[in-house]
This record gives sequence, structure tokens and C-alpha cells, in this order.
Amino acid sequence: MELRPLGNTGLKVSAVGFGASPLGSHYTPVAEDDAIAAVHEAFRLGINFFDTSPYYGGTVSEKVLGKALKTLQVPRSDFIVATKCGRYVEGFDFSAERVRKSIEESLENLQLDYVDILHCHDIEFWSLDQIVNETIPALLKLKQEGKIRFIGITGLPLNTFTYVLDKVPPGTIHVILSYCHYSINDSTLLDMVPYLKSKGVGVITASPLSMGLFTEQGPPEWHPASPEIKSACKAAVAHCKSKGKKITKLALQYSLANKEISSVLVGMGSVSEVEENVAAFTELESLGMDQETLSEVEAILEPVKNLTWPSGINHK
Ligand code: NAD
Repeated sequence: MELRPLGNTGLKVSAVGFGASPLGSHYTPVAEDDAIAAVHEAFRLGINFFDTSPYYGGTVSEKVLGKALKTLQVPRSDFIVATKCGRYVEGFDFSAERVRKSIEESLENLQLDYVDILHCHDIEFWSLDQIVNETIPALLKLKQEGKIRFIGITGLPLNTFTYVLDKVPPGTIHVILSYCHYSINDSTLLDMVPYLKSKGVGVITASPLSMGLFTEQGPPEWHPASPEIKSACKAAVAHCKSKGKKITKLALQYSLANKEISSVLVGMGSVSEVEENVAAFTELESLGMDQETLSEVEAILEPVKNLTWPSGINHK
């Protein structure tokens, strides 16, 4: 598995990153044994980057990931863990007091002494000025205390990243995690990459399968896309299936092909998904993409290209 540098952090993260939200049964129920086996298989196949949050399954994802990493019995420096703060099943709270308590809870859930990255989780749901003036300074203190190594921000609207990054001194925020903006139906993150590079910020993209839109089982009930987007993606899935092709492979390879993006986080909850997704990367390296099917799928998705959905409170 290729390791890619993450901005100016000095970290090298696997191109395929392990999205651990399925470990908290965020999509469908995942048994603990299957979840642990998936993490072990991922590590065995060269995935060193694991992403979770206290929000996923109300801390279940963190706890299961922690158990799986501990039972790997490898040195702590062999894997990179990102978790998040500010978003919980009870709601949002990015106050300094809450994020301080949050990291203590996360470290206990994960059975770790530190996390490599602590992200502010979905900042568009909070006052961005409070994130800049209160949350980030609290995270900088946690960094000084050695509880976190690097600071990140996550969210859906891309303009929230620029708003925050332009208001903090260079080198304060090390990483951004964007989701659903670098997949076959929506590649708007691409326009932001030069700006992020110029700031030395590491770029992680998540949800290459557009949170289940590009799977044969289809998206979960809570998926926020419009019926128009959902039906176009469904047509793309059906097209691939009719040709005997896997849409999951095509969609994942689309995101992985851009080496400016350090890691593509794909949610996985079983050994077979891990194996399939690692194989998709290996095949991309050796054979390249199936350009013919990609063009056909892009044509099907053209009417909804780069359409997204509203998220968070309105920031003018
Ligand atoms: P995704 O697009 O990666 O899709 C995940 C879904 O696809 C799951 O149901 C999974 O079981 C299924 N899947 C994975 N591989 C498959 C395969 N080969 N065949 C069939 N189905 C397959 O969406 P995601 O899980 O939401 O995103 C990936 C990760 O990124 C998350 O787990 C999370 O860690 C992170 N993320 C973070 C944010 C944020 O911070 N705001 C938002 C979205 C995602």
C-alpha cells in the first residue's frame, strides 16, 4: 500500500484510509468480531491510517477500533489514528471545556495515550468564529500537552475550510477532511487543492462511495442527497452491474488516482470490503482505470454533476 505525505505533518498515511464509522454500525449493524477482523486485515494489507469519532455509534466506533488496535500488538508508531471532537449523538458542542473533556474520553475509548490527529467534527454546525477563537486555541493546548499531535477540521461546505484557514496563523491547522466532494458525481474539492497546498495543509477526502450511493446495496435511509442525485447514482450502479463491473471499485479508484490527496477514507466493516478495496488500489497501480466504464458512468451522472446538499447553519 502506498504511503503518502500528509501536508507538513511529516506523517505518511496509506492511500486507502480506514473509515471506522461502520464500526459504530453507522450504516448497517456490524458485529464486533467482524469489525475487529476488518481492522486487523486492513493493517496486514498495509493500511496504517484509521479515522473515527465519538459521534459514530455514540463512541462504539472508538471503543471497537481501540480494541482492534490494541490486539494488533504492534508499536504505537506503526499506525496513525484520527478522531474528532465537537459532534456527539447528543448534539454539537465545540466549547473549550467540552473538547478538553472529549479528548480524555476518546483516549480512554481508544485505549491510547495520544491521537495523531484531532479534528473539529463538522464545523459548519457551529459558529466558525468560536471555532477560531476558542476551539482551536484549546486544541493547541492539548497539542502542547502531548495528547494530540496535529489539528484538523472537517465538514461538507468547502467554503467553511477557507473561512477558518484564512483566520488562523499558518501552521495552526494541519489537515482538512472533506467528504463527498471528490467522487465521480462531485469533484469540487479539486478546485481547492492548490489553495490547501499553498497553506501546507494536508488533504484527506472521505466517502469515495458517496456514503453508499455507489454501492449495490444503496445508501442508508438517512442519506441527505436529493432524490435526483440518488436516482442518477442508482442508474450508474445499475449500468455497472449490467456490464458485470463493480461500481465500488470504479468510484474508489477515481478518488485514489489523484496523488495530491493524501488519503481516501473509505468506510469498511468487514474483511471482504477491506480486501476488495485494497485490491482496487493495487489494480489501479498496475492496470489503471477502466476509462470506458468511467466515461459511461460520468455521462449518466452529468445532470447531477457537482450538485450537493445543504449542511449546517448558514454562514454568510
Ligand atoms: P463511504 O463512501 O466510504 O461508504 C461507506 C459504505 O460503503 C459503508 O456502508 C461500507 O460498508 C460500504 N462499502 C465499503 N467498501 C465496500 C465495497 N467494496 N463493496 C460494497 N460496499 C462497500 O462513506 P463513509 O463511510 O461515510 O466515509 C468513509 C469514512 O470517512 C467514514 O467512515 C469516516 O471515518 C470518514 N468521514 C468523515 C466525515 C466527517 O468528518 N464529517 C464525513 C464522512 C466520512
